[in-house]
Amino acid sequence: MTVYWVGSPKFTAGHPAPLIALVHHRMVGTLRSTDATFTSTDGREASTHFGVGYGCGRAGHPTTAHVHQYVRLGDQAWGNGNWDPSGAWNDRYPTSYVNSRTISIEHHDNGGRTRGNGKGVVSEAVIAASIELDRLLLRGNLAELRAAGIRFRAGTETAITRELGSIPLDRHHVIDHHYIAGRLKPSCWRPWADDPTGFPQARYLAALAPAPSTPEETVNSYPVPKVPSVATVPAGTWLYATSALQPSPDNLQVDPGRDMPYLGQPSSTYRVVEYVDEAGVHQGRAMFAKASEITSVRPAPDPTPFSQARLDAAQKAAAAAVKVAAERAAAAYGA
Ligand SMILES: [Zn+2]
Ligand SMILES: [Zn+2]
Repeated sequence: MTVYWVGSPKFTAGHPAPLIALVHHRMVGTLRSTDATFTSTDGREASTHFGVGYGCGRAGHPTTAHVHQYVRLGDQAWGNGNWDPSGAWNDRYPTSYVNSRTISIEHHDNGGRTRGNGKGVVSEAVIAASIELDRLLLRGNLAELRAAGIRFRAGTETAITRELGSIPLDRHHVIDHHYIAGRLKPSCWRPWADDPTGFPQARYLAALAPAPSTPEETVNSYPVPKVPSVATVPAGTWLYATSALQPSPDNLQVDPGRDMPYLGQPSSTYRVVEYVDEAGVHQGRAMFAKASEITSVRPAPDPTPFSQARLDAAQKAAAAAVKVAAERAAAAYGA
């Protein structure tokens, strides 16, 4: 696919926190109106990395659905900073540097709060181009990304491609803006105007899933287990924030015998697991472990301890425990 560089002055330079999600927005407008908003020097602090739509009117661009890039990967677009506790993001992910942790993608929806004439509807062609863009991004292959025309902040290519290749393909990592902003963005990308459906997440996940073939499959450019699997790490194993396996304050030393969802092995020196804390709560963080320190990888028991229902229950229990502790502390201080 071809990605057309448009550019926007609206971004924050640099990449202070790793990518963990692709975030899908509705334009409440057209590719042309989005170009105007993102390229103007007005005070509106809004931009995304990419926009998918048609009819931009730019010389050399197709009239059919295509992709614009406004902000380089490795810089922070101003698309997702308005996280809110009412969004699901708040329960799983750090709320600092949200625009560094995400790639934001706008979708042409023909605008309008007013119903009629297909207002708010993202066309099939735009969805197809968007899925193609997601597929390209999630493969995390630098040569491919460059060949498509995607631009990077110089020096961030290695980190960005590694992080893209580690984004799990599930409903917590391929998300819409509402997931982050909750009540602040009730319709981005939820049912609105003439659109009764909103972001077709299940469709994206199904389309992006690799076709089953061999026991270990290649998804996001590295081998992952065919069936949900767990890895066991021995006492004191370090999980590293990056594949460089270097000391970092973001590294974690895990307690004995911990099982964790096993995501795959991008290289012979390290493997990737998803970090689950002591309460059994998914932290939504891909962590890197030395390959030699993972003692076993086996199919997850059925029912898996990492099923969404169990994770949600564990998360609720942990949140309740925090609340009780806070209430006790408040009572102790006579608050
Ligand atoms: Zn949005
Ligand atoms: Zn265009």
